[in-house]
Amino acid sequence: MKRNVLIIGAGGVAHVAAHKCAQNNIVLGDIHIASRTLGKCQAIIDSIKKKRNQRGSGLLKAHQLDAMDVEATKALIRSTGSQIVINVGSPFLNMSVMTACIETGAAYLDTAIHENPDRVCEPPPWYGNYEWKRRDACREAGVTTILGVGFDPGVVNAYGRFAMDAYFDEVDSIDIIDINAGSHGHYFATNFDPEINFREFTSKVWSWEGGKWKASKMFEHRKDWDLPVVGKSTAYLTGHDELHSMSKNLGVPNIRFWMGFGEHYINVFTVLNNLGLLSEKPVRTAEGLEVVPLKVVKAVLPDPASLAPTYTGKTCIGDLVKGRKDGKPQEVLVYNVCDHKDCYEEVGSQAISYTAGVPVVAAAMLIAKGVWDVRQMVNVEELDPKPFIELMNQIGLVTRVRDAKGDRVLDPYKESVATVRVRKQFVDA
Ligand code: NDP
Repeated sequence: MKRNVLIIGAGGVAHVAAHKCAQNNIVLGDIHIASRTLGKCQAIIDSIKKKRNQRGSGLLKAHQLDAMDVEATKALIRSTGSQIVINVGSPFLNMSVMTACIETGAAYLDTAIHENPDRVCEPPPWYGNYEWKRRDACREAGVTTILGVGFDPGVVNAYGRFAMDAYFDEVDSIDIIDINAGSHGHYFATNFDPEINFREFTSKVWSWEGGKWKASKMFEHRKDWDLPVVGKSTAYLTGHDELHSMSKNLGVPNIRFWMGFGEHYINVFTVLNNLGLLSEKPVRTAEGLEVVPLKVVKAVLPDPASLAPTYTGKTCIGDLVKGRKDGKPQEVLVYNVCDHKDCYEEVGSQAISYTAGVPVVAAAMLIAKGVWDVRQMVNVEELDPKPFIELMNQIGLVTRVRDAKGDRVLDPYKESVATVRVRKQFVDA
């Protein structure tokens, strides 16, 4: 059993993770929140109290921390007695926080692939350039490290793995589709950190096609999908974290990521990009001031967390899996629908932060209970998806499945499991 959680970051996802940890602190113990700005961490604690979201009697405490400082992070892990670290700060922090975990023995979780501020879009498999280089270190130290356990990456990795195990003898393709059919009422805003959001789209689009990496341009390939609740939706082929691990771990020849964009987003993005305002490279103004255009754009856009009070509508994110079962073609959609307004009422956040914050806390709870305490580094599709899907059904994100039999809530232990390839040691560890 592991107890006491240190949440790193105090943005939109950290806000949700902190509320969810507080709701479940009977399992998780004390909750500590740390970022460079103490006030942001304290504001999250105040909002938990205001919403009465703390169920047990453990500590809720704010800390000031620069998580790029490994020694300071180690000291905070030790002084708070944290055995689980949820890293939901910026993805530039991953390797420093992971090092602090390896050196203190705390379990490590994050929700995005590591980014180097100077490099946009790394060659695949991106995890191989950073995280996977620390695999041996994690195994030797017996440190549980779960990479990319938000919604996408995260839940969609588990959905792909579950669908393969439960419904197919052979899988040809997994299309991950992410549609936000919500409206925030601002002229333009991104749903999470604008800097990270834009960096996803300003370079090559990598997809896994026919067992090989294929490069395309952003907005080059579009497709219309007919999805539950949100209906007919246009999405564009986009590069994304999960492709870099699922392509390696699942043995499926085609894995693609599709993200929904409205015409307005595409127009604004195209203008900003063509003007060079999305560049991560510094420029010097006539006054001699050195600025990074992308950071200036981030500074003038709305804070994603501030979108929550007026956000309406729903998200639909899931995996459309195609292949064969008993020699017949089979098609299954495993998905979740999340309502922006419901999230705001429960924790004061919008659905994009909510769908990323709930899974990382479910994973932390599974580590705390020993179910996912695997004492090595894994991506989500390497773990048994059933306890994860079941726990998320209970703590806020309900998984549904649509196939030839109809559309229903997914009870992962009741669906027929034909080709179980559960790595037993993970479940029993
Ligand atoms: P925000 O930009 O809102 O928050 C990032 C936080 O990181 C800030 O609160 C900042 O606080 C903190 N931070 C930055 N640098 C440091 C540092 N050196 N030390 C300590 N804290 C630091 O981002 P989001 O909450 O929207 O996203 C958080 C993470 O979740 C990102 O990695 C994002 O890519 C990922 N994400 C994943 C999703 C998924 O489904 N998998 C979906 C959405 C987001 P301060 O300035 O006070 O230090």
